Amino acid sequence: MVRGIIPRQPAKTGRHEGARIERSPDKHAGLRPGRPGQRPGPTQAKVSKQVAPKAKSTRASKGYDPIAPERIAEILKRLDQLYPDVTCALTHKDAWQLLVATILSAQSTDANVNRVTPELFRKYPTVADFAALTPEQLEPDVRSTGFFRNKSKSVVGAAKKIVSEFGGQVPDDMERLLSLPGVARKTANVVLGTWFKKADGLVVDTHVTRIARRLELTKNTDAPKIEQDLMKVIPREKWILFAHQLIWHGRKLCIARRPKCVDCALENICHAGDKTWSTVEIHKNAKL
Ligand code: SF4
Repeated sequence: MVRGIIPRQPAKTGRHEGARIERSPDKHAGLRPGRPGQRPGPTQAKVSKQVAPKAKSTRASKGYDPIAPERIAEILKRLDQLYPDVTCALTHKDAWQLLVATILSAQSTDANVNRVTPELFRKYPTVADFAALTPEQLEPDVRSTGFFRNKSKSVVGAAKKIVSEFGGQVPDDMERLLSLPGVARKTANVVLGTWFKKADGLVVDTHVTRIARRLELTKNTDAPKIEQDLMKVIPREKWILFAHQLIWHGRKLCIARRPKCVDCALENICHAGDKTWSTVEIHKNAKL
């Protein structure tokens, strides 16, 4: 190295000048990486004074297969290293509490729900206590989670059905869970996977949707189709953990706006169209 010349490194801030694209270990990306000293070419990183450098946005290279088994295995391996034993962040002590917390978490944050549920379950300790309420009686207790009228109807309706038809026990199969008011596949998958440890499907929430699309594991935008796509490429024994890993990744790094790609361990196998930093080719359709 010529004395006095210090190679530039990616800035943690994402603001960075003079970056050169690095050789990527991703065999499936179809990249043309730069050599040391080579000026960035047309398919390589563009430099901006305002934002982090991005590789040129293109369609996926011919032959690139985002769901190739080796790529899926690499994604799973890196997620395992990042989030080895993550689980649902909703506070609960039994299946009923988890079901209620999951219903309340729609269009809300887990932290917000966790602020409400301790007092809620102290006031109404059993599913029978909820079944004895009218939705209107429950509304003030869940108001701060948003959409409280619908949520109150769902929680009270689910409690009544569990008491009257399922002997007071939260069902442990998809079909009966889906028969409860306000319970769709996402809620059912949370309860089945987290409490009953049953992998009947994959939890698909806003984080899973966003990251599955960024990682090109699906081209769909609606949750049932995304779930089907993920069930085809992710091994069944990983379904429960994988969904939680994506949810945690979506909270910590792969956030909706300006994901923290420079700090992401998946960076060189991710071609998301809305990356804020890239050492690999960008695939313009790989985003929400
Ligand atoms: S590199 Fe960026 S877009 Fe891709 S998974 Fe990581 S944070 Fe998300």
